[in-house]
Amino acid sequence: MDILVVLEDNRGTLHRMSKEAIAGAQQIGGSVSALAIGANADALATELFTLDLTEVITVNHELVSSYNADGYAEVVRQVIDSESPKTVIAGHSYQTRDFMPRVSAKLDIPFIPDIISIEGGYTKQVLNAKLNATVNTNVDQIILSFQSAAFSDESVVSGSCSARSFEVNLDPSLVRAESEEPFQESTGDVDLESAELIVSVGRGMEKEENVSLAFDLAKVLGAEVSASRPVVDSGWVEPFRQVGSSGHNVAPKLYFSLGISGAIQHVVGMKGSKNILAINKDPEAPIFEIADYAVVGDVLEIVPKLIEALQS
Ligand SMILES: Cc1cc2nc3c(=O)[nH]c(=O)nc-3n(C[C@H](O)[C@H](O)[C@H](O)COP(=O)(O)OP(=O)(O)OC[C@H]3O[C@@H](n4cnc5c(N)ncnc54)[C@H](O)[C@@H]3O)c2cc1C
Repeated sequence: MDILVVLEDNRGTLHRMSKEAIAGAQQIGGSVSALAIGANADALATELFTLDLTEVITVNHELVSSYNADGYAEVVRQVIDSESPKTVIAGHSYQTRDFMPRVSAKLDIPFIPDIISIEGGYTKQVLNAKLNATVNTNVDQIILSFQSAAFSDESVVSGSCSARSFEVNLDPSLVRAESEEPFQESTGDVDLESAELIVSVGRGMEKEENVSLAFDLAKVLGAEVSASRPVVDSGWVEPFRQVGSSGHNVAPKLYFSLGISGAIQHVVGMKGSKNILAINKDPEAPIFEIADYAVVGDVLEIVPKLIEALQS
């Protein structure tokens, strides 16, 4: 086996970043298989039957029916031991950050996380994304994780594949951690990661009272509201709305960015958006480097007019 992609279960469906990881694996080339773990493993495998993969390996054991780092790390270790993939790949999600270093340590296989490109080596951002570092290696086995939107989930190559169940040998004493319910589920109706339209607010909204403008715009558009970290830290909106490296990874059809500068920690969470419309009064704001539509102006003047126009 050349490449094994470790999949992530996003409440019963395949996580977008797993699909992006498959797209990246297919670009590397060679035989690509996938590993689905947990109570939803068969459902995840079914989602992949129309993709160009060698096979989907499924593992369903009571000790890993839902995610826990100890169990997942041991399952992945056993699959790697048995199948000997040259490269193991996953999306650079919170889950991957949690269990993959344990796999790397258990098997003494190097782990290069948060990769943005595979051209001429494995490239990752360093020094707060001021520089890119390209790593070249000739080790026999390697583990990689791909940054959100490093590859497009739309570039996955179609084909067909089948599923194979893999028996793991798990000792209950190995599984010491127990995961709580996913954070999002306990926070109400807001599902930013599957939202098709998002209105996102940054410190450019200037004060808490102005954030209601974003909610008004979202209501007219039928969008969800998200925010940059300073807005959350100031208590202007709830923490579960935060987008970025310490918040959600989102990929809506349209991301409306209101007064957000475009710092890398924010951008990694939203650059997978299909279209980005940014309003910022600073023409040099970094958000404009990734925006599809750039509006240079004052959000506090533009947004009320936009709401009025959309309503009429
Ligand atoms: C370890 C770590 C993790 C982090 N995680 C995250 C994260 O998950 N998510 C995140 O967002 N950040 C995160 N950050 C913070 C990040 O580095 C930035 O500080 C943050 O994203 C900036 O938020 P902002 O764009 O809202 O504010 P600012 O950088 O202050 O930008 C405000 C923007 O609004 C514009 N503006 C001001 N007034 C107006 C107006 N009236 N009309 C139009 N435009 C206006 C300004 O020109 C400016 O570009 C993290 C930082 C660290 C160190």
